[in-house]
Amino acid sequence: MEELASLSSMRTRYCGLLGEKDLNTQVTVCGWVAHRREHGEHLAFLDVRDHTGIVQCVVDGGLEARTEWVVCVTGILRRRPAGTENDSLGTGAVELTECTLLVLSAAQPPPFPVEDRIDADEALRMRYRFVDLRRPRMQRNLRLRSKVLESLRRSMVEQGFCEVETPLLWTPTPEGAREFVVPSRLRRGECYVLPQSPQIAKQLLMVSGMDRYFQVARCLRDEDLRADRQFEFTQLDMEASFVDAEDIRRIVTDMVQRAIGYVTGSHPDMVSTITWRESMDRFGTDKPDLRSPMELIDLTQCFAATEVKALSGPCVKALVVKGNGSAAQVGISRNILDGLVEHARKLGGKGLAWFRVKDATPGSVELDSPLTKFLSTDEQDGMVRACNVSAGDTVLVVSDAWRVACEVMGGIRALLLSGVAGQKLANGSGTGEDGTSEDAVQGRNMSLVWVIDFPLFDGMDDAGNLVSAHHPFTMPHPDDIGLLGSDPTSVRSLAYDLVLNGWELGSGSIRIHDPQVQRRIFSTLGLSDEDAASRFGFLLDAFRYGVPPHGGFAIGVDRLVALLAGESSIRNVIAFPKTQTGYDPLTGAPKEVSPTVLAELGMSFRGVR
Ligand code: ASP
Repeated sequence: MEELASLSSMRTRYCGLLGEKDLNTQVTVCGWVAHRREHGEHLAFLDVRDHTGIVQCVVDGGLEARTEWVVCVTGILRRRPAGTENDSLGTGAVELTECTLLVLSAAQPPPFPVEDRIDADEALRMRYRFVDLRRPRMQRNLRLRSKVLESLRRSMVEQGFCEVETPLLWTPTPEGAREFVVPSRLRRGECYVLPQSPQIAKQLLMVSGMDRYFQVARCLRDEDLRADRQFEFTQLDMEASFVDAEDIRRIVTDMVQRAIGYVTGSHPDMVSTITWRESMDRFGTDKPDLRSPMELIDLTQCFAATEVKALSGPCVKALVVKGNGSAAQVGISRNILDGLVEHARKLGGKGLAWFRVKDATPGSVELDSPLTKFLSTDEQDGMVRACNVSAGDTVLVVSDAWRVACEVMGGIRALLLSGVAGQKLANGSGTGEDGTSEDAVQGRNMSLVWVIDFPLFDGMDDAGNLVSAHHPFTMPHPDDIGLLGSDPTSVRSLAYDLVLNGWELGSGSIRIHDPQVQRRIFSTLGLSDEDAASRFGFLLDAFRYGVPPHGGFAIGVDRLVALLAGESSIRNVIAFPKTQTGYDPLTGAPKEVSPTVLAELGMSFRGVR
């Protein structure tokens, strides 16, 4: 860190950066009292903390300065007397002596200790967020976030992108989430919508000839909150003209690799591309974590003629949990198996069959399972061969429609790798789904994967209309346009996601720039010409004035930072997040609005309080 560049007239040094170079010189530091220890009647040790660390100051015991008071200390930096050094502190070999102390602000005792290892309730931490953010871990997280943003911005600028801000008071955008609305005072009875993303604005910027746009954009979606979701979140949003999907992926890969390299010191070496279909088939998810070699095995052929209903297809997928290779081992315990069966049901499966392998020798295969007696010898041999198992291993099997079988097995795989059901079960391979691994922090062993060729549509809404998998401006795969009328659910799109260690970092697509194709997609989605015109008419209108082929991407900054910080919740990398119920314990938002404000807006709330 550039120490001198950011010093001020109040201080000459930062606490945590004091060292050999400053010995026997007079320095002034400012900060908060982290600890006070009395040393006899006339002497006290104050640990003074700023964002760089802590330094011990020897002060007159008569001077009052308690924990979290804000102080300015001037003293001479000396080596600590032999035997009193503190190895766990960066400045543990030195101390400030002959100090004069100036109290800048007294403080109430903090609601919880300002240190990394606290077990304070999160709501309390959020109520006193200004204290919580003093903790080294939170300081590190916010500074890491700043570095990530700095690097992303630099990469964009160096790749010819121009930063443009787009409105927050806007109109419905097409990401498919519930929107926040803002009533207009000047146009009573009408509302703005807070943008779910700058999607439409950035497409308009392409029509405007901006060529390459980016923005660190706030996006707002009124969806249920969880560890990796907040109402408002930040995207590094970008769009470019005259590009194809590979161009965009190259630009984004460069940007993300650089950011990871900048904050961790090492680039993720593994960048691969996989189609959505293959990802579902092999890993049971569209967010594959390729750090673990554990893959789904297809047993549909093996059980093609089975009498066992629980294995009779249309698609049979299996996972092998390795034992320790000894016949004496029984495989996974019944307890854990019962938990896995329960989990499979929660994931939408009918259940989960399991087979503990006692002997894998061809011809004398022995499987421990309630289903074994219903299987033919061929089926048992076939399963053992296809799964390449040995004694002590356990085979988990799901049989269902292709997508359900894949997704259930994907969920079981994630659980096995997460350490919840035991990392030990998963070969010791992989780390958590929650991204809390040390590897993430260190930038080692990272798996960066592009998932391409997503389906254009993803299921149906309640009215029986198809729903866009990405958003309705996504270009159908050129090879599949002919299927739009006959078999729309099998149409692929030019959409792509970037996945880091099993976390979706962001998504994007090549957009439709032909108004005819766009109209066709709207009608397939059940949007009438009138609906389309009223929601997105201004975009379709703009497309009549000369639209370049274009495409883009948006990176979820909160997730990227959380992963790099080794945090499992994005709340830990956001300065002022909301609780799971959308409440801000610090400010008390959301709050009631005064009757005067409501009257100005021409509004009243009915049936509330
Ligand atoms: N606007 C999209 C989103 O927020 C990203 C994109 O397609 O560029 O998911």
